[in-house]
Amino acid sequence: MSQMTRLTELPAVARSISLECTFCEAERFFKVLTHLSAEAAKLRCEVCGRSKTFRLSDATNGGSMAKDKAAGKVKSEAAGGEKAVKEKKPRNTAGLQAAAEKRRLASAEKKAETAARKDADTKADYVKQYESLKKQIGVGNVVPYGMKQSFGVANAVQHPTFGLGFVTMATAEKIEVAFESGVRSLIHNRIG
Ligand SMILES: [Zn+2]
Repeated sequence: MSQMTRLTELPAVARSISLECTFCEAERFFKVLTHLSAEAAKLRCEVCGRSKTFRLSDATNGGSMAKDKAAGKVKSEAAGGEKAVKEKKPRNTAGLQAAAEKRRLASAEKKAETAARKDADTKADYVKQYESLKKQIGVGNVVPYGMKQSFGVANAVQHPTFGLGFVTMATAEKIEVAFESGVRSLIHNRIG
C-alpha cells in the first residue's frame, strides 16, 4: 500500500494515522479510538497519550495512514488542492431560475407599464385634438347625425350614441367624425 491520498474516509478504529500533535509539537501516530460520526473520530497520540478529535472536513487534516508517511503527506497536499476545486459550491440552478423568472416578470411589468403610458399619452393627445376642433368649429351649428343627411368637413354633428363630433373628412358616401371617444367612420348622403 504505497498509494496514499488525503483521507476521504475515517480510518478504522485501532488503525493509526500520522498527524501533527499540538502537545508533542511534532508529527505523531494517532490511534483511532472511536468514530464520533462518519466524519469525525477520536484519536490518541501514541506518544503523549493526549486525545483529539479528527475531522475529515478539516482542510489541513493532512492525514495519512501510518505507512508511507512521507509519500502520504506530499500526496495529500496535491489531492487536497484538487479536492478544493471540485468542492467549489455547485451552481444554485434553482436560485438562478428564480432570478431569471423575477427578471422576466419585471420586464413584462415594465412593458405593460410603458404600453399603458403610451396609451394614456395617445389618449391625451387625442383629447387635445378634439378640444382644438371644438374650439375652432364651435357648437353654434350642430346638426343631428342621420345617414340621409349630407355633411361636410368642419361640420359639427350630434350623434345619439357618440355625442358631439366634428367632421374631419368627407367623401360622397362616408364621413370621418372626431368624437370625444375617438374617430368614427359614418355613412351619409344615403338616399331613400
Ligand atoms: Zn502527542
